[in-house]
Amino acid sequence: MPRTKLIAANWKMYKTPDHTRAFFRDFLPQVSGHTRDEIVVCPPYLDLTAALDAAKGSNVAIGAQNVHWKDEGAFTGEISAPMLLTLNVTHAIVGHSERRQYFGETDDTVNLRLKAALEAGLTPICCVGEVLEEREAGLTDDVLRRQCVRAFHAISAKKAARLVVAYEPVWAIGTGKTATPELAAEAHAVIRKEATEIFGEEFASNLRILYGGSVKPENASALMAQEEIDGALVGGASLDPKSFAAIVKY
Ligand code: PEP
Repeated sequence: MPRTKLIAANWKMYKTPDHTRAFFRDFLPQVSGHTRDEIVVCPPYLDLTAALDAAKGSNVAIGAQNVHWKDEGAFTGEISAPMLLTLNVTHAIVGHSERRQYFGETDDTVNLRLKAALEAGLTPICCVGEVLEEREAGLTDDVLRRQCVRAFHAISAKKAARLVVAYEPVWAIGTGKTATPELAAEAHAVIRKEATEIFGEEFASNLRILYGGSVKPENASALMAQEEIDGALVGGASLDPKSFAAIVKY
């Protein structure tokens, strides 16, 4: 069975609720009736309600950009899976490199967040990827394997059923530098092999691995043509409804 591609927008810290409503007014008519791929938009927490209201009844699901591992507690600035579920949020990005780079996120906290998201029934998009120095030192495969082993620690294949992984080479995020489709596919194969070892062959053959890193309307179709690439996580180019719709329809 071919894997259904998932095209996800990561808005990072952009847009207000008004901007969110305007985005969906423009975006939804451009993708209505598009059933080939799953479409997810992950706005800032502040915009979740506006996004959910705007996307209600459409073919676009709404995700959060992170999720905490506890249901509630004294964790200032965090949001839990049950809180997201009360709004009808279905997806959550976990372990984005900007979280790892600027907010002290580690392989261990990624594992905790991933477990909580899966346990709650959210679809986590778990990000892995090497920094430039690691690629230049020939360490990419080791880094990807380590990040997968640590992120998936103590999670069963049954629990992980909804898991989605995003390969996001850090040197390609927001830089305009995209991994070539072949280079991305090689990294995806490393991740899929690791998933085979951890979760088994059947699981790994169904696992969706997205590519993220300067995906644009101009490079989307070449990337999506790779059998190993099961969709995209799109930052900058997802902020504009026309450009994100063009990526969805690559
Ligand atoms: C991202 O934020 O996940 C991302 C891939 O960003 P960009 O598309 O801007 O490189």
